[in-house]
Amino acid sequence: MDNKKLKDDLIKDLIYKKKNFFDVASEKEIENCFNFAEEYKEFLNACKTEREACKFIVNMAKEAGFKEFKFGDKLKKGDKRYFVNREKSVVLFKIGNTNLEENGMRLIGAHIDSPRIDLKQNPFYESDGFCFLKTHYYGGIKKYQWTTIPLSLHGVVIVRDGSKVEINIGENEDEPVFYINDLLPHLAQNQMKKSGGELISGEQLNIVFGGKIFKDTSINEKIKANILTILFEKYGIREADFMSAELCAVPSMKARDVGLDRVFIAGYGHDDKSCAYPAVKAILEAKNSDTVMALLVDKEEIGSEGSTGMKCKVYEDLIDEICANFNALPRKVRAKSKCLSADVTSAYDPNFAEVYEKLNSAIISHGVAVKKFTGARGKSDASDASAELVGEIKKLFDDKNILWQTSELGKVDIGGGGTIAKYVAGLNIDTLDLGVPVISMHAPYELISKADLYSAYQAFKTFNEN
Ligand code: MN
Ligand code: MN
Repeated sequence: MDNKKLKDDLIKDLIYKKKNFFDVASEKEIENCFNFAEEYKEFLNACKTEREACKFIVNMAKEAGFKEFKFGDKLKKGDKRYFVNREKSVVLFKIGNTNLEENGMRLIGAHIDSPRIDLKQNPFYESDGFCFLKTHYYGGIKKYQWTTIPLSLHGVVIVRDGSKVEINIGENEDEPVFYINDLLPHLAQNQMKKSGGELISGEQLNIVFGGKIFKDTSINEKIKANILTILFEKYGIREADFMSAELCAVPSMKARDVGLDRVFIAGYGHDDKSCAYPAVKAILEAKNSDTVMALLVDKEEIGSEGSTGMKCKVYEDLIDEICANFNALPRKVRAKSKCLSADVTSAYDPNFAEVYEKLNSAIISHGVAVKKFTGARGKSDASDASAELVGEIKKLFDDKNILWQTSELGKVDIGGGGTIAKYVAGLNIDTLDLGVPVISMHAPYELISKADLYSAYQAFKTFNEN
């Protein structure tokens, strides 16, 4: 071998270069990747809210032989259990054969809530031929994006007698959808001068709910009267029942392949279902593992708050109770445990290059993105994983040929965002953020690459099994 070739090889080994999945994957791997995407699209279409995701995941777990766990239940090695928290978050776990105090647990945490438009508790409002529903948006959205698209209505209503009515309208082709108005360009001179955040105000996000008059009534709001009649006949719901309801409008569009080569998927809720689904698959399929746990939590989009968000003590209680079953000290087990905080990141968008620092951005189709830290500005609110933990995961992924890359959200001074990582890390569990890069994150119809979805799945499987 000549000297120049030797030097070339040496330099190539010294330099780091990201790889495109479609450049390095075999035909068989690409086929597996595309097949995985088909399963994922079904999940995405069926799980537009955390409650629906929770139910779907429980069914997947049951099919895989998991049994329900309730506090106080006895556990033994090899047990496969699921724990449901208030129908909005679910934890799956498998008890391994290894010693909990020595090996700890392997956790993967993802969230199953996504930005959306919630109904207000007193939503009905009739005006000039319309009956509208007032809304209060959930999570960080660009409000103008949620106008003039088909919306479906999902959720639960607790009615007068205390029973629960489930609502899901607008997903099937033969059902009506709902709609938020925007202004025609012909009359939008003043609107178009406003800043993006003011193009549509929160109080303009009113949902078109009906327009037919109920004739035989003396009350004034005749369209509302007609709508309430329909609601009562179909669902047994009265206006006052909306006060004890959780109803949200979400895009009714189904997930679709994008591009002539079908490499991308557009869908509602890739944040964070594109991490939740691989995390669920990875634990259902985990073989010869330590004790593994998948946390599918709610309320990440509004700060992980409440009794179903990651800040709730229930997740710590669950770990403690598993430990108690095996006479292991929870604090020892947590100190030895590791967690992947599985949440999406922003993919580098060549059309908005100015907000990204390309060297440290996740490039689409270049694999699952590892984020040593998230946060904003001077790493505010970041969990910031240790070099040791990143080094360990890096070696694992490289040894097992997982396609991965590192990433930051965007340029340092431009913005930022957080995940559940810091709350898990706060339990004294080493935690690393990683996830699928997303284009148009938090839009009603987000975009991901099948390659990155598949890499996330492979990464989670490898983490669980090694
Ligand atoms: Mn997220
Ligand atoms: Mn988000």
